[in-house]
Amino acid sequence: MNIHEYQAKELLAKYGVPVPAGHAAMSVDEAVAAAGKLPGPLWVVKSQIHAGGRGKGKFKELGPDAKGGVRLAHSVDEVRAHAEEMLGKTLVTIQTGPDGKQVQRLYITDGVDIAKEFYLALLVDRETGRIAIVASTEGGMDIEKVAHDTPDKIETFTIDPATGLMPHHGRAVAAALGLTGDLAKQATRVLAKLYDAFVGTDASQIEINPLAITDQQQLMVLDAKIGFDSNAAFRHPETEQLRDLTEEEPMEIEASKHDLAYIKLDGNIGCMVNGAGLAMATMDIIKLEGGEPANFLDVGGGASKEKVTAAFKIILSDASVKGILVNIFGGIMKCDIIAEGIVAAAREVSLNDPLVVRLEGTNVAEGKAILANSGLPIISADDLGDAARKIVAEVKQVEMA
Ligand code: ADP
Ligand code: MG
Repeated sequence: MNIHEYQAKELLAKYGVPVPAGHAAMSVDEAVAAAGKLPGPLWVVKSQIHAGGRGKGKFKELGPDAKGGVRLAHSVDEVRAHAEEMLGKTLVTIQTGPDGKQVQRLYITDGVDIAKEFYLALLVDRETGRIAIVASTEGGMDIEKVAHDTPDKIETFTIDPATGLMPHHGRAVAAALGLTGDLAKQATRVLAKLYDAFVGTDASQIEINPLAITDQQQLMVLDAKIGFDSNAAFRHPETEQLRDLTEEEPMEIEASKHDLAYIKLDGNIGCMVNGAGLAMATMDIIKLEGGEPANFLDVGGGASKEKVTAAFKIILSDASVKGILVNIFGGIMKCDIIAEGIVAAAREVSLNDPLVVRLEGTNVAEGKAILANSGLPIISADDLGDAARKIVAEVKQVEMA
């Protein structure tokens, strides 16, 4: 789960991380009021969307010469003009994809005089099983380019979970950023507070870009992105409040209500599978046969008929789905229960797309009989390869028709 920049900064400020003052705004009037509460003489009007690259982003509705999604203002009137131009518009950045995202919230914040911009992030490094610190002197709006062209300018350190953050990590980060004296001490303090915030909120990622040195020689967080580990969500009802459902895929929200693991993808073959490993294998084999999965969907070990029906509806609500492959191994969940769920769901949604079902495991004969006797045009498959070949062939036919 992700949150907006302004929410991330409010959260980090609670942990003592230095951020400029600012206020969120949902309307032009709120933006003007927010600017009035800040001292000036420089304000920044920032689009709040769950994507980075806003500064260099472009608004779809405005011409190519219009300013981007992060704008400086030298008066409250200028804040108003920017807010009027930005709210409700669609911002396209390198992270949003070509469709962009509608700007529904702004963040009005103190403008800071920047002497230098760094990159500093904490994330869970799956390879080492540790929290990693990533630091670079080349912060700002081109970090993707730095990572691609000059990866040696990005340094990584990992933290042993048994000891937690140690003073040597602070010294290493300060050295990586080329900081000495008081700025090195500030870097150590900021890092310690970010680490506390990371562990305290069960974050999966905290990315600060830029971490700036101001003209007054103060380190300050000017942009922050936080993602949380959804497996720890139950421990943090307070972060659940920060969710902005308009930023999330509607089908993924629906899936989370039914406790289904669903990720939308770009292909046209809907997949319903039990178990994450089998779901991955199913997607792989669809690709091997020349098809493209429309989603990852794990209905879990103990799915009920209701859950299968909900899963079916979610798959079908995706307009790009041209066929469905159900691949279920009946263990805890028996094949006949699955078959009943499939038949009920197919009837309820009056299914028109081809449906290939591969069942294996407990009560497989009963399950196959339920499908065969349903009167529905369900195509039965014997194994995973057979199932993939059949659905890919069916979808090709639909596409040619
Ligand atoms: P994004 O990463 O989405 O482009 P940022 O918040 O990093 O958005 O803003 C882009 C750039 O705008 C920053 O690299 C920084 O140079 C400038 N900027 C952001 N916030 C401020 C601020 N409060 N004061 C001065 N400049 C800022
Ligand atoms: Mg940034």
